[in-house]
Amino acid sequence: MNRRDWLKGIGAAAAGAAGTEAAQAQEGAAKAPLPLKDYQPKSMLHTAETPVERAKFPVIDFHTHITWGPMLEPGEKVVFNDTPEALLPVMDRRNLKTMINLTGGVGQGLKESIARLQTAYPGRFIVFTEPWWSRAAEPGYASFQAAEIERAHAAGAHGIKALKTLGLYLRENVKTGKLVKVDDPRFDPMWETAGSLGMPIAMHTSDPEAFFLPVDRFNERYEELNAHPDWSFHGQDFPSNMELQEARLRVIARHPKTTFVCLHVADSENLEMVTGWMDKYPNMWVDIAARIGELGRQPRAARRFFDRFQDRIVFGTDATPKGAEFPQQFFCDKLYEIYYRFLETEDEYFDYAPAPTPPQGRWQIYGVGLPDAILEKVYHKNAERALGL
Ligand SMILES: [Zn+2]
Repeated sequence: MNRRDWLKGIGAAAAGAAGTEAAQAQEGAAKAPLPLKDYQPKSMLHTAETPVERAKFPVIDFHTHITWGPMLEPGEKVVFNDTPEALLPVMDRRNLKTMINLTGGVGQGLKESIARLQTAYPGRFIVFTEPWWSRAAEPGYASFQAAEIERAHAAGAHGIKALKTLGLYLRENVKTGKLVKVDDPRFDPMWETAGSLGMPIAMHTSDPEAFFLPVDRFNERYEELNAHPDWSFHGQDFPSNMELQEARLRVIARHPKTTFVCLHVADSENLEMVTGWMDKYPNMWVDIAARIGELGRQPRAARRFFDRFQDRIVFGTDATPKGAEFPQQFFCDKLYEIYYRFLETEDEYFDYAPAPTPPQGRWQIYGVGLPDAILEKVYHKNAERALGL
């Protein structure tokens, strides 16, 4: 090595040292902690954006919560989340013909829900009743509940909402004791009566699989469960997701003349499994409420599902007025625009909820671009058939 080469070598080493320092500084900056909640990456994709302000056909939202019934509490009190007068302008702007208020309550509360919504605005609101959970431990409940459905029907209720209360909250002594099974025979007369009166059952059983798993770094709904710890059904004495599903299937099989609209696509994370069930049980239907985040991240499977079951899928959102703590179901103009965009366009990679961070999991969705004939069924014709309108 001559002197020049030797000097070059020194220079390179010095530059190398400086380079390493720079790299280290850069690495240090990259490692500055950024809390997950503050991370809001913006997609750099340049793709078509097709706003859909009004649905192509009039819409019946099969799944909304304008009121809350008493759930496990005794009594008949319903709580209005908002007035119908506040909802109607949004409905008119978005071509939302009718909202079905599933959680219409029981007894006097149900009558109040019907009077203020359904009777006051015919055709714009439809009200469902709920099982009288707080009385489920009383002797003679099975026949009382069946008769109660007849009374609710006479009062104007169009269907029954069974919250996931059944299977996950209701216990033998209402709030204590063992959990009551979804296929507990005490509800059989109720399911049967509903079928004979033409009242569909809107049934929410089970939840995303992640809700039954540890809330750890592998859980794809970590942020959602962190925000709503009470949504986790991991551990304790909770049944598994599949036990809940199997119990519901036994109910559907036992009451073939009753229409069961399984809410949230029954199990939006396993469309192949749901396809098998729906092939087997013609009285099993689904809604899509609060699950376009799931359907939209598997757009090809979702599209095949819409094709195959186009006569048994109803439009629903789970819309809850003033429900800002659940952006995926917060009743507002934007919520409906997103649903319409998902169903009507083939837009790619867009937000499934009006929120700065995807609230159910960090992914985006793709539109399924349904043809008019299917859109019309999903938007209103199927719901009309299920309700005998
Ligand atoms: Zn709901």
